[in-house]
Amino acid sequence: MLENYHNILLDRDGTVIEERHYLADPDQVQLIPGAASAMRALIRAGCQLFLVTNQSGIGRGYFSRAQYDAVEHRMLHLLRNEGVELMATAMCPHAPSDACGCRKPLPGLWEKLQATHGLDPNRSIMVGDKTADIRFARSAGLKAAVLVLTGHGRQTAKSLNLPISQTRALALDRSKGADLPDILAPDLAAVVDMLATH
Ligand SMILES: [Mg+2]
Ligand SMILES: [Zn+2]
Repeated sequence: MLENYHNILLDRDGTVIEERHYLADPDQVQLIPGAASAMRALIRAGCQLFLVTNQSGIGRGYFSRAQYDAVEHRMLHLLRNEGVELMATAMCPHAPSDACGCRKPLPGLWEKLQATHGLDPNRSIMVGDKTADIRFARSAGLKAAVLVLTGHGRQTAKSLNLPISQTRALALDRSKGADLPDILAPDLAAVVDMLATH
């Protein structure tokens, strides 16, 4: 199944690195256990990895662009140590009140990546821990939306009346609800396990 999903779009906070409320300190960057090896497996399978992240802390004035860059730099360093290279990061720096077109769930960051990298939505999936990530996958017309239970994922799953105790990825019927993901998984590693074996 992995060959059908060439482009893996990943949310950052709560999906790749541990959720910290408005993360601004590079020393607080911590990879979620198993995330890097899962990403490495995806790359080995021929997938391209992209990060798609809302960083309204910049627009809200909670931290500077330079602090964001330091956090990004630290994360890329940790990933590189694990043999993981991202194709690109697409980031929205705006506050909700800025009414931009690039804050997830709006598709602006997808359009930017698509224009730069020529991505096919039918071969692209989004993995994230919030409803905004699932809606983003829909607004961009992506092949699939994946909800992980790391970060805010448990809260998100509860709000969607989804189970939170399973240890493996689960395929869902998205026709049963507008915000339902196609796949619910404990974490990124379980997503990759599922994609690799189906
Ligand atoms: Mg997140
Ligand atoms: Zn924006």
